[in-house]
Order: sequence, then C-alpha cells, then structure tokens
Amino acid sequence: MASSYKIQEHKVDIVVVGAGGAGLRATFGLAATGLSTACITKVFPTRSHTVAAQGGISAALGNMGPDDWRFHFYDTIKGSDWLGDQDAIEYMCKEAPAAIIELEHYGVPFSRTDEGKIYQRPFGGMTTDYGKGVAQRTCAAADRTGHAILHTLYQQSLKHDARFFVEYFALDLIFDEEGACRGVLALDMAEGTLHLFRAHGVVLATGGYGRAYFSATSAHTCTGDGGGLVLRAGLPLQDMEFVQFHPTGIYGSGCLITEGSRGEGGYLTNSNGERFMERYAPNAKDLASRDVVSRSMTIEIREGRGVGEHKDHIHLNLQHLGAEVLHEKLPGISESARIFAGVDVTKEPIPVIPTVHYNMGGVPTNYHGEVVRKRGDDNDSVVPGLYAIGEAACVSVHGANRLGSNSLLDLVVFGRAVAQRCAATIKPGQPHKALPASACDQALANLDRLRHANGSMPTAEIRANMQKTMQADAAVFRTEKSLQEGCAKMTQVFASFEDVKVADRSLVWNSDLIETYELQNLLYNAVATINSAEQRHESRGAHAREDYPERDDVNWMKHTLVNVDAKGACSFDFRPVHMNTLTTDVEPVPPKKRVY
Ligand SMILES: Cc1cc2nc3c(=O)[nH]c(=O)nc-3n(C[C@H](O)[C@H](O)[C@H](O)COP(=O)(O)OP(=O)(O)OC[C@H]3O[C@@H](n4cnc5c(N)ncnc54)[C@H](O)[C@@H]3O)c2cc1C
Repeated sequence: MASSYKIQEHKVDIVVVGAGGAGLRATFGLAATGLSTACITKVFPTRSHTVAAQGGISAALGNMGPDDWRFHFYDTIKGSDWLGDQDAIEYMCKEAPAAIIELEHYGVPFSRTDEGKIYQRPFGGMTTDYGKGVAQRTCAAADRTGHAILHTLYQQSLKHDARFFVEYFALDLIFDEEGACRGVLALDMAEGTLHLFRAHGVVLATGGYGRAYFSATSAHTCTGDGGGLVLRAGLPLQDMEFVQFHPTGIYGSGCLITEGSRGEGGYLTNSNGERFMERYAPNAKDLASRDVVSRSMTIEIREGRGVGEHKDHIHLNLQHLGAEVLHEKLPGISESARIFAGVDVTKEPIPVIPTVHYNMGGVPTNYHGEVVRKRGDDNDSVVPGLYAIGEAACVSVHGANRLGSNSLLDLVVFGRAVAQRCAATIKPGQPHKALPASACDQALANLDRLRHANGSMPTAEIRANMQKTMQADAAVFRTEKSLQEGCAKMTQVFASFEDVKVADRSLVWNSDLIETYELQNLLYNAVATINSAEQRHESRGAHAREDYPERDDVNWMKHTLVNVDAKGACSFDFRPVHMNTLTTDVEPVPPKKRVY
C-alpha cells in the first residue's frame, strides 16, 4: 500500500520536462504565447547535455558556397537510409535558415567569415547538388556551439514569464480517465517534497539514453527518463534499434572529438599509416556518414590493422592543420585531447574509437511534436496532452542514422513547432478537469517500492551489468547470436532490478534513490533497444546485421513500435514511413542504394 505523501499541487497550462536546447526553446516559445508554463529539470538548465555539443548546427545558408534547403532535405533522407519521415524532414530543412538567423538575433556568438557572415564547416553526408559536391552547411561557434546556444536560450527564457523548477525530478506521467496526459508527478530533490504539476499538456524534452551503454559521449544525466515514463505508461517507443556510434570518441574515456575536426581536414589512419577511408568511401572519404565511418574503423581493427599495444583503436590526425587553425577552430577538442589522452594535437594523432553518441529512436511524434501511436487503422493517432521533442523524441527526421549537426537543428525547430501547436490548441487559463482520485496511485506505488527497496544488489551493480551487456551485444555490428544472447542477458538484468537495494530512505538529496529511478528508466530503454534490434532482420543506417547485410525495403521500410511490460517483455507493432512531402516545393526522394 502506498504511504501517505503530502503532495503540493501546481496548476499551469503546460509543463515542459527538460531544459536542454529543446526544452528551453519550447519553454520560452510557450510563455511568449501567453500560456502559463512550468519547466522542470533535474539539473540546472545550462548543465543539460546540449552544453557539450561541439561541431555545430546545420542550415543551408549558403554563406560559404552555393547551397539550398532541398539539398539538405535530400542529404537527410539519404543519411536516414530512407527511414526518416519525409514530411518532417522537409519541415526541418526548410525552417533551418530562419531558425539560425533567429538564434543569431537572440545572441549566439557564431564564428565569422572574413565578410562577417556566419562561419559554416563541412560535415559528414552534407552535399550540394544531390550528392555531387561538398556542402559547407554546419554553422559553428568554434567547437563550443552547444555551449553558445544553450546559454543564449537560457538567457532568452529569463526574459519571458516561464517558471523554472530546478533540480526537480519527474517521477511519472499523470493521465486522466480518457487516457489524456494531464500532468507529471515530480520530486523536489533538495527539499524532498512531492509536486503534482497539473496541465493541459506535458512536453517531454528529456534527452537521450546513451548511459545504457558502458562507453558513451553523453553526460551521466542522459538516462532516457522520458522514454522510461512513456513505456511505464503503456505507450510505445519507436525505432529503438537505431543507436549512433560516433567514430571519434577518445579511446578509454569516451569523451567526444567533434566531426568538425574531420570537417576542418583531419583524417583517420590505421597501423600502416594508411588513410583507409579512401577504400570504403572513395568520394566522401573521412566525411562519409557516421555509421559508415564507424563500421570501417571496426573492420580495420578486426582485421588486425588497429593501432596501439592491443591494436584496438584508430588514429585521428590533426597535426597537419597547424597550431593556428587548431587554436581558432578547434580549441575545445585540443584541450580534451590533452586532458583525456595526454596528446598534443599539434604534434601527435589522437587515439579514437567508435563510441555511443546519439539515439535515433524515442517517443514517436508528428512534426508538431504531438506524440502519436497506432490505433486500429490510424497509424498517426495523437495521444492527447502528450508531446515530445529533441533527442527524447523520434519525429522521425533522423531515421536510421542522424547526420552530424542535424540534432541541434531538430531541437530548435521542433521546440518552436510544439510551442506553436500548443498555442493553437490550448487557451491560456482554460479550466482543469478533475483528475480521478487514483491518478497518482501507480506513481506513488513505484516511489514507495524504490525508496524502500531492500534487496541484495546495489544500483551500481545492476547498472554495470546492463552497460556491459549493451556494449557487447548491441554493438556496431550485430548478429542473431549476439542479439539473442544479449536479449536473454538483458531480461535477467531487468529481472534483477526486483532485487535492487537502496540504502538511503530519506527524500532529501537522496542521490541513491534518484540513480535508482534513472536505472529503472535506462533498463526500459535498454530492453526496448536490444529486442528491437533482434527482431529487425536487415541492415539499415546504424543497425548493421552481419547475418542480414542488405537493406530490405520490401519487408522493413517501416518504423518499429515497441512496448515493454513490467517484467521487461517486449511486444512489437509497426508504422509506415511517411514518404510524402508537405508541399510541392520539393519532390519526395524514392529509396535507392546509399553510397558515399
Ligand atoms: C558530446 C556531444 C556532442 C554533440 N555535438 C553535437 C553537435 O555538434 N551538433 C549536433 O547537432 N548535435 C550534437 N550532439 C547531439 C545533441 O547535442 C543532443 O542530441 C541534444 O543536445 C539533446 O538535447 P535535448 O534538449 O533533447 O536534451 P538534453 O540537452 O540532454 O537535456 C535534457 C534535459 O532533460 C532534463 N531531464 C531529463 N530527465 C529528467 C527528469 N526525470 N526530470 C526532470 N528533468 C529531466 C535534464 O535536466 C535536461 O535539462 C552532441 C551530443 C554530445 C553528447
């Protein structure tokens, strides 16, 4: 039986969970339209993982050579390996130039060209003329673009009348009797008090779940809480099998070296000193798409051409760029390489290895940010009151593989879109309908269970088991054997959570309890990921099956929907990919072979 908790109630029009790039853009966009808005975040807004984004944000501005948003549209579809929804991709790429100018006007200190225009660097898979030329499309503030954007967005938020609840942890979503999402139950971590945020809608902007893996570039806070909340509410996640490995995480620490380093002319070499990407992607070479480069590196290592004592990593060379370029364009990663690899980038190569970086899968939405599910014949049935944006969402603009610099763009474009949608559908101050008396029961029962958990396994031990399993069995290359073993192991790890031990029973700054909640959310994401990977019998984008090496458009050009039950068992359904565009400004791109 749930203990009796005192719950403080807040009534707002809309509540945003998360204050990264997506959450902040949505929050002040909502407040600007006159909707009373609460933003709750488990870390101080400017500590969100968006702050760590390095390389830049894409938009066909054409500041450094010809470009067109239609090329960007084409590249993103090809990058997605034809799993991205083309209506959403059209929306994002067309909105991109205005979104960048808006950021500039808000005060983002972009790097400049000699004429004073926003500086743009080449990034993987970004081309002109439908694959013929190299586009310089990624707008950068040196190699600290996320830092610049996040701080600017936070400053803009303060100008508006939104209320921030900082260091509040969202525990579970709250639904009314009709299944509409009407709020969120949260814990004020400092005070140890419970808060029910009642709202006409909840926007999930909780970021990715990189920490389901042992080695990831993402912050320790990237624990997929939004996905966990959604799965626990009985709603599905989409395309969870697609996990992006970034080619250049620093060997050992996983710390990211931006793709911008290859954009500026850096290249990879194997133990023979060979620039091997020329063999795998004769045109794009080191700037092929991330999945392609990560696989090529893995093959080099497997075939014995890795560098280092154990021949288990690859070299990234930047020495030839010269100290001046490195200092001006890549100061952040020069510092990271010194601290995390002990390397002076002006003199020696950086040891790198493919590292988990981004989750293409997430909460399925349409291009307004409204969460969708399949209902009968309706493949795009909207879940009332629930929205998702940013890395937590699957719009899907990234499909099976995200192009570098398209995520920061996704944050601001769909953060703005969701605000517009809410403004069009919710009236400021409209009355709140009563919630059923039992609305918080499940959430409180889960709180009680975790808080008093007195099993034999510490949270950290279960987490380590999960991370090792995911790292080994849901890796760059996948086979039936590794996936089936991995699924069986993850089922066990999920079950072992029944036996978790939380040592601290208080509610005030109980980091043990919070980490246990995060682990619970990660476990839901992890089983969804590995089981989704097992059931997809083809190779597409980041999902590379050695036993099914080809893309299979006849059977598999569709989005996976996965539900996870309380025991960690998965069930599947599918939604068709949107192959249509929104307007006649651009033609849909029919599937073809993806070569770089
Ligand atoms: C090292 C690194 C470099 C990158 N570089 C680039 C780049 O150059 N270009 C690019 O386009 N992309 C880049 N990416 C990807 C991109 O930065 C991320 O996908 C993006 O920043 C995610 O933003 P977000 O707003 O969705 O979530 P985040 O920035 O991760 O924010 C999540 C927010 O949710 C809150 N939250 C989560 N759970 C809860 C909870 N239970 N209760 C309350 N609050 C919660 C957190 O407090 C936080 O405010 C990079 C990623 C990494 C890791």
